[in-house]
Amino acid sequence: MLAAVQNNSKMGPNALLEPVGQGFGFNAPALQARLVAQLRSQGIGNEAVLGAIGGIERHRFLDTALATQAYEDTSLPIGFEQTISKPSVVARMLELLCEAPCARAQGLGRVLEIGTGCGYQAALLAKIAAEVYSIERVRGLHEKARTHLRGMRLANLHLIFGDGMPGYPKGAPFAGIVSAAGGETIPQAWLEQLAVGARLIAPTVIASRADGSAARQCLVLVERQASGYTRQVLDAVRFVPLKSGLA
Ligand code: SAH
Repeated sequence: MLAAVQNNSKMGPNALLEPVGQGFGFNAPALQARLVAQLRSQGIGNEAVLGAIGGIERHRFLDTALATQAYEDTSLPIGFEQTISKPSVVARMLELLCEAPCARAQGLGRVLEIGTGCGYQAALLAKIAAEVYSIERVRGLHEKARTHLRGMRLANLHLIFGDGMPGYPKGAPFAGIVSAAGGETIPQAWLEQLAVGARLIAPTVIASRADGSAARQCLVLVERQASGYTRQVLDAVRFVPLKSGLA
């Protein structure tokens, strides 16, 4: 069996799972279809987002030992003390991006992701946006993402090793910005790099009392309009922290 796998040059890093795993009941397409149906039943209605989740195999972004859990709605470790985000939260963030006024008018243009991690959300973004810049501060993860994405033919996806705190001025203005790591505040640079009619979605710490106690992390949605910015605090979430500098 190993020889057969090695002879098939089209197979990715987790290819062994398919012939071995199927024998034990790991049927990735069926599990993936079930995840899409589950997201739909939870209220995700954007077909581009659902199509992307149905078209990108999440198990390819995980270590082989975790592959059988890939289609559960859960975050999972990806090494370097980081996690792959929960599919329902990823779907929610992508749907919010797609509903930005500029995206509704002309499709989702150039987007910026802060926190490539293993590359899963970046791959989904590449399916729904015209162009994607994704920044990661941990070199080992940046390289891991490169390996996972090799062979996926996502020519519109650009992976950058760097600190995403200052955004990515060279690519601005963006039709959407999404952060996969949660900060204390939203960096000013991100707001400045947002196009008019575009949205930014970022997990951010929200203090529910004046003295700062009972702080929790929530998805914050910012929309840039010609006259200024609107800000809404949405779902409570748990993302890894946004950190400065390189690692
Ligand atoms: N997008 C991933 C989730 C990765 S977890 C997915 O598809 O599931 C969040 C990532 O943000 C981590 O890899 C972490 O290293 C990275 N990160 C945190 N602060 C950052 C910063 N300032 N710039 C770039 N990446 C950052």
